[in-house]
Amino acid sequence: MTAKIISGTETAKAIREELKTEIAELKEKHNVVPGLVTILVGEDPASQSYVSAKNKTAHALGIHSEQVTLAADSSEQELLNLIDKYNNDEKIHGILVQLPLPKHINEAKVLYAINPDKDVDGFHPVNVGKMVLGEQCYLPCTPHGILELLTRSGVNTSGAEVVVIGRSNIVGKPISNLMLQKRDAGNATVTICHTRTRDMAAHTRRADIIIAAVGVPKMVTADMVKDGVVIIDVGVNRIGKTADGKAILAGDVDFDAVKEKAAAITPVPGGVGPMTITMLMKNTVQAARLAAGLI
Ligand code: NAP
Repeated sequence: MTAKIISGTETAKAIREELKTEIAELKEKHNVVPGLVTILVGEDPASQSYVSAKNKTAHALGIHSEQVTLAADSSEQELLNLIDKYNNDEKIHGILVQLPLPKHINEAKVLYAINPDKDVDGFHPVNVGKMVLGEQCYLPCTPHGILELLTRSGVNTSGAEVVVIGRSNIVGKPISNLMLQKRDAGNATVTICHTRTRDMAAHTRRADIIIAAVGVPKMVTADMVKDGVVIIDVGVNRIGKTADGKAILAGDVDFDAVKEKAAAITPVPGGVGPMTITMLMKNTVQAARLAAGLI
């Protein structure tokens, strides 16, 4: 068996086209232009490239986007003041603070300062709580993207044995919670593995769906999966550089070997990655609708 490739690039493209139409309609019918601000502290090259990709995508879809970069030695209070300003700016519906923050800034304090109605990353405890309760909220972008990939690729998750590897607050925990809820791409029986899991292969071998969010290149090998498994590989690991200096990326799954056993698999790059930014745009449009009383 050679797996069907679940293309995040193609799926993200389709969702972006839908969003373009929605954004144009919002402007025409309601005079609403969704607005997003991205805030970066410092000059980390990876963070700079993520923020610039977010702004470029926003711009291409017709979202008003602003980008603010603070110096690496800016104080926590400066950042909190900036968030306060955007909490009260009617043009801005979504506020994204790029993580990680420099060590002298308390990340939780900063994330909690964002108005939950503008928390398009879905990291504020109000939104996390609503997500767990299955209430309307902003879903965190990467798990949201995974749900869309599963739904749009026709993967039936109801009753499926899902093994999530990784228990981070941004991927592992939320995707595990969402997939056990009574919802589209949910109703699964979910097992979560992490560094203290005794025999990971025993879990992954009986999984119908594996979601790997670990950060260890090619950790999931062919002998760890059963025939016909569906693989969602969240990992983005830099494993080298090309002659012209570009990063060579690998996922958490040994793609070449596992694709020979899997029914479907996401590639890295071109899988979950493009979905994450797209879901940020979707959440920003949702935030604009909320502010305009259209939800
Ligand atoms: P993280 O916060 O570092 O969490 C990694 C998780 O994996 C932890 O729960 C850790 O267990 C577990 N883990 C690490 N090594 C393990 C091992 N050898 N065996 C079993 N479990 C292990 O990472 P993250 O933020 O969730 O990100 C995970 C990966 O996804 C990274 O490669 C990241 O770059 C990528 N990512 C991609 C996107 C995207 O849009 N494509 C978005 C977010 C993240 P413990 O809790 O026990 O330490």
